[in-house]
Amino acid sequence: MIPPASRTILIVEDEPAIADSLAYALRTDGFAPVHVTLGADALKVLQGEKSDVALAILDVGLPDISGFELCRQIRQFSDIPVIFLTARNEEVDRIVGLEIGADDYVTKPFSPRELVARVRVVLRRLAPRPVAGNGAAAPAVNGFEVRAAEARILYRGRPLDLTRYEYLLLKTLAENPHHVFSRAHLMDRVWTDAPDTLDRTVDAHIKSLRAKLRAVDETSDPIKTHRGLGYSVVPE
Ligand code: CA
Repeated sequence: MIPPASRTILIVEDEPAIADSLAYALRTDGFAPVHVTLGADALKVLQGEKSDVALAILDVGLPDISGFELCRQIRQFSDIPVIFLTARNEEVDRIVGLEIGADDYVTKPFSPRELVARVRVVLRRLAPRPVAGNGAAAPAVNGFEVRAAEARILYRGRPLDLTRYEYLLLKTLAENPHHVFSRAHLMDRVWTDAPDTLDRTVDAHIKSLRAKLRAVDETSDPIKTHRGLGYSVVPE
């Protein structure tokens, strides 16, 4: 089972103005930023028992240790994705950063929105993706059979007549049973070409999917709503 994706992003940055604008942009995008100014505090957060940090943004010029050194230390106990914030004159050190396992770089000054977009890209790249093989049908789970090569989904052996977004939405849910997807996460994975999608667009598509599933079996309701969290498909 895949655990629900965390939205917690650790910001390690000693310049308050930069940290604040970044935290604001992340929050606006549905992330939960945690901000510290020292490398030592970052290590404490990441080594904390309840740490659910999905990604760390590290300023290279920190007051106690360099972001590069911090990354090295993080790599000794964690493979969480890391994005460096570098000043222009630190350009040379980019190669060093790559070698110690960073996932991306942003050079100051940067647009917070652009950085948030990079965060999304890195997380999406790392998101667990079930492999259906060479277009072969995935085994039927929860009554669903996803035929990726045909862009079709069968429910209890009956092909569903789905729009493109309905198909992508149901595919995401059905291939990851029990995984609770937030609306933001579904928008990321399904509406990749429509960045202005709203929460209620997701809800509307879930509603139409449920209607189509009920048309196959009136008593079935495999798509669960998790209030305040999102949606999942559960085995029947
Ligand atoms: Ca700094």
